[in-house]
Amino acid sequence: MDEIRASLFLQGERLPLIGVTVDVSAIGALIRCARPAPVGAKGTIELATTPKVRVPIRVLRVDSVTYKPFHGIGVQFSHLTPEAREILHERSPWTVTDVPGGCQVQFRVGFTEATNFFGLLGQLKGNVAFDLSGVRQISSVGVKKWVHFVERLPAGSRVRYVRCSPQFVQQATMIRNFLGRGEVESVLVPYSCVECGATQEVLVEVHGGGIPQIDEELDCTCGGVLEVDVMQDVFFSFLVNA
Ligand SMILES: [Zn+2]
Repeated sequence: MDEIRASLFLQGERLPLIGVTVDVSAIGALIRCARPAPVGAKGTIELATTPKVRVPIRVLRVDSVTYKPFHGIGVQFSHLTPEAREILHERSPWTVTDVPGGCQVQFRVGFTEATNFFGLLGQLKGNVAFDLSGVRQISSVGVKKWVHFVERLPAGSRVRYVRCSPQFVQQATMIRNFLGRGEVESVLVPYSCVECGATQEVLVEVHGGGIPQIDEELDCTCGGVLEVDVMQDVFFSFLVNA
């Protein structure tokens, strides 16, 4: 995601801490700063969004290793106004949800030069399931950033890809190392109707290896036929090459 300039005004500190966001959501933010902040400190954060967002915060954690020579300062927001919530929600390209044994990451946007996977790395824990249904655009720089990211996923964790968009699958078939050591669990297969132009995607489970059996045609609500929109051998070739 794009970096946002952030100023942290902490109680008892004369000058604000200036940094940039590594990640921001409606719950809190991770700020990369030149100076650390005391854990537990309270204050206010000002984010240079349009319009500006000013929110009371508390410092939750400080990570002085991952962003060396900078410090990663994790802050939790409180008293967020609905307007501020909306501005921040739009800025966050993914949501990380805790699940038993690890976390699930849902991407809301594609992978481009603006995607900062660096920030995501610090939010992951345990086994990770990536939901890729929202990834509809992947630029060449986005591909490079993603490959670099999956190479750096924690070694001990199990990595699964679920609800992979056709665009994600297409890259997986073309780019070596695109999946890293992760396993694809399910993909969205596109269909379209030649009669009315309607499109539909069908979720197909792929574990167990081998090319799954899928319907070539489905009934369309117009009375016509939805035909599968991909060459199956090509679309599923990432399973064979894996
Ligand atoms: Zn139709």
